[in-house]
Amino acid sequence: MRVDTDDFGRPCRCGREHHVDVKEIVIEAGAADALEEAMAEGYLKEYISPLLICDTNTYQATEELLEEIYDRCQVLVLDAEGLHADNYAVEIVENNMEDDIDLILAVGGGTIHDISRYVASQYRIPFVSVPTAASVDGFVSTVAAMTWDGLKKTVPAAAPLAVFADTRIFAKAPGRLNASGVSDLFGKYICLADWKISRLLTGEYYCEYVTELEEKALRTVKSCLRDIAQGDEDSCENLMYALILSGLAMQMVGNSRPASCAEHHLSHLWEMEVINPHLDALHGEKVSVGTMVVLEEYKKIAHAIRKGRCHVVPWQGLETELLEETFGKKGILEGILKENEPELLEKVDPSRLEEALEDIADIIDDLPEEREMEHMLEKAGCCRTLGDIGLKEEIREKSLALAPYVRRRLSLLRIRKMLKIEGESV
Ligand SMILES: [Zn+2]
Ligand SMILES: [Zn+2]
Repeated sequence: MRVDTDDFGRPCRCGREHHVDVKEIVIEAGAADALEEAMAEGYLKEYISPLLICDTNTYQATEELLEEIYDRCQVLVLDAEGLHADNYAVEIVENNMEDDIDLILAVGGGTIHDISRYVASQYRIPFVSVPTAASVDGFVSTVAAMTWDGLKKTVPAAAPLAVFADTRIFAKAPGRLNASGVSDLFGKYICLADWKISRLLTGEYYCEYVTELEEKALRTVKSCLRDIAQGDEDSCENLMYALILSGLAMQMVGNSRPASCAEHHLSHLWEMEVINPHLDALHGEKVSVGTMVVLEEYKKIAHAIRKGRCHVVPWQGLETELLEETFGKKGILEGILKENEPELLEKVDPSRLEEALEDIADIIDDLPEEREMEHMLEKAGCCRTLGDIGLKEEIREKSLALAPYVRRRLSLLRIRKMLKIEGESV
């Protein structure tokens, strides 16, 4: 399929004129040929000295199909073993950046894209995305998720000029990678609910059109989970489209609001390693576990609201002791406090929250039941439990308490700090 990006960049009923930077998106068997054509005689012809960045795995997976493209480019193959989007990888690329390089081709997954996006934006040259697996929703992202000397940083960078996703390549990606893409996508259930709740309570900007686009993409992927797990080409194409759409949604809104909230906050928390050891899990794998943990909590809250057991209490202030004993130990307390300034919950009026409780319960009721979500994730071969990614069950409560402090974005998980739930939920 070819995505007409003009469809997304137009005046919208939300009152904004959305803007999308990506010029062309091709998701089909044969996208590699379309790329070759664009380089040989199309709009990419003007770039005479392209650098192709891949890793040892993605090189192997694309060597044959992209043969002519490899011939056209200077090629840099990074070692896939222990590859991260960090200063070490950037240094290797920079050492290979000759003066005349005028275009970067990212051939790989999320990490290769982050490295390429970062370097391209440092050198102020465009980059073209060639995803080799439907593993994350960040291919068309406008930020690079980097690690500098062990610290996670989100660095502003440019969106790709174009995306060429060849189904013959990504449908054959290792199952774990495409399952991870399903996981990243299913996190949207939670973050869209968080967005709706936040609009309800604070009047935060919200776009119905963007939400509808994402919900439609979720429904499509939901209908072909087993086929994705089996590498069926049409189904994997649906997944790739949904992931790219989620990236476009971020461009349309100008930040990651439509694609990341409480579920991603858990994943980011675990990546910070303040209450857990290093996890050997992919981004999506942490997100689907975060999604399950948050979903269970949200369903509990909705249940308590329906039973009249959920009451609003005024915000009690930052949990300084908890923050000190966790983030403080790692020397990142100051960064966390700065991130949370000014406090989001100050904008939440307790009486308005009290009035909105039933509406919040409605939004949560619209989410899949825990069993259904588990079943869907299972069908696609995704991680579901804390144990699946090497975490202990004891970490659940602390994760729920700390995750909202990781990013300054209003979620029901954060609002939970103004909710008192009586008795055990049955
Ligand atoms: Zn809109
Ligand atoms: Zn994600």
